[in-house]
Amino acid sequence: MSTYDLIVIGSGPGGYVCAIRAAQLGLKVACVEGRETLGGTCLNVGCIPSKALLHASHMLHEAEHNFDKMGLTGAKVKLDWTKMQGYKADTVNGNTKGIEFLFKKNKVDWLKGWASIPEAGKVKVGDTVHETKNIVIATGSVPATLKGVEVDNEAGIIVDSTGALTLPKPPKSMVVIGAGVIGLELGSVYARLGAEVTVVEYLDVITPGMDAEVQKQFQKILSKQGLKFVLGAAVQGAKAGKDGASVTYKLKKDDSEHVIEADVVLVATGRRPTVDGLGLDKLGVEMTDRGFVRIDDHWQTNVKGIYAIGDCVPGPMLAHKAEDEGMAAAEVIAGKAGHVNYDVIPGVIYTTPEVANVGLTEEAAKETGRKIKTSKFPFMGNARAKAAMQSDGFVKMIADAETDRVLGCHIIGPNAGEMIHEVCVAMEFGAAAEDIALTCHAHPTTSEAVREAALALGDGAIHV
Ligand code: FAD
Repeated sequence: MSTYDLIVIGSGPGGYVCAIRAAQLGLKVACVEGRETLGGTCLNVGCIPSKALLHASHMLHEAEHNFDKMGLTGAKVKLDWTKMQGYKADTVNGNTKGIEFLFKKNKVDWLKGWASIPEAGKVKVGDTVHETKNIVIATGSVPATLKGVEVDNEAGIIVDSTGALTLPKPPKSMVVIGAGVIGLELGSVYARLGAEVTVVEYLDVITPGMDAEVQKQFQKILSKQGLKFVLGAAVQGAKAGKDGASVTYKLKKDDSEHVIEADVVLVATGRRPTVDGLGLDKLGVEMTDRGFVRIDDHWQTNVKGIYAIGDCVPGPMLAHKAEDEGMAAAEVIAGKAGHVNYDVIPGVIYTTPEVANVGLTEEAAKETGRKIKTSKFPFMGNARAKAAMQSDGFVKMIADAETDRVLGCHIIGPNAGEMIHEVCVAMEFGAAAEDIALTCHAHPTTSEAVREAALALGDGAIHV
């Protein structure tokens, strides 16, 4: 048994970052992980493997559809699924091993096994009880289930996001239940690999919560890429057969019932927080109505010395939000002032084109009651995007009409996930749109479109 200043439970982006930062601040730290490898959902079955498949399938799409247009001709590129899975596994391994290395470098002990908390100040792993001054719960989330739909990732017919990353072979047809980020990313992967993909969504829009203009444009672009959408449809159930599955849904507009068949059904209806097996009930840790761990402004639960961060607490279920909370909680525990600006957390969808946003949507900005102004600069006016044959989409910027302060930005276009960060920095500094407009941007870059959107909020964009 050892005594620690901090034991972190869970080694996802929330947990491992928290452990490393706490160790850097001089605390004696351990991190418990029940999985075989470090890195949590993100590195093992989330962000990283999905981005490997998105990258590889994007390359295939470029080779099949755009190489010839650029004068790149020659032998036809073919998909080798086993090799693509190997590339994905190598990417994951490289990253999970990287966390192992960082733990060693920062002297964070990795306690292998599933943890429970018998009482504040104690963490049990296997038969061993470790004493610790502080505990951070960073146990993350798992895919949400859907009534009438039984997921069996082993069988590979009705799967969740974890099963969709390791299908035995790419399907010829796929139904994705849920038009959120995960469903559209993985749906895009298989569409590019040749599947007919139909997305069935309960709401009348895709990517709920995003700016309405972006939702519309995004759906248009994905439809052009071959994805089909059935919106306003309530899934009643799904049945797996030997060679595929059928999904029954009712259209909300007229209550009519429909059945759709596909080789594979991906259930992507969101994720739910998990604190299974920790014993939080017995400890009296308060939870929210939706099953998240309730925390205060310093990430502490109602039980002194027990903190919680990441997907298991309220807020966007994003790796970088978990990381920020991990760093901040470590700082608070070390006696410093931790800080997370929840108003400036970017969100990115890694399709082609990418979709990125930060701050308020136009709808949310209007709801605040303030006077706002908006601008939209199309990538058709951006030379770099045109050279890459990716000129669909736009940068939309929202600012306060009186102060010119940037309130939000929504980008659909090439490199959107990288470009959004200049707006994040601007918003962190409370910048006006004019500050971005007056900043010299290198030419030719897609970032020039951000500047143009800012210019459009003032005297006007140049290239429209
Ligand atoms: P997790 O990463 O879920 O880690 C929790 C860890 O705790 C797990 O490893 C689990 O085994 C461990 N654990 C749980 N209970 C115990 C216990 N009792 N004892 C020991 N260990 C325990 N987010 C993004 O920001 N960008 C993306 O591009 C993105 N893509 C995604 C794609 C997919 C397919 C999925 C599923 C998710 C994606 N996400 C993405 C979301 C992201 O993965 C999560 O927001 C992030 O992993 C949350 O981090 P976390 O540290 O809170 O928890």
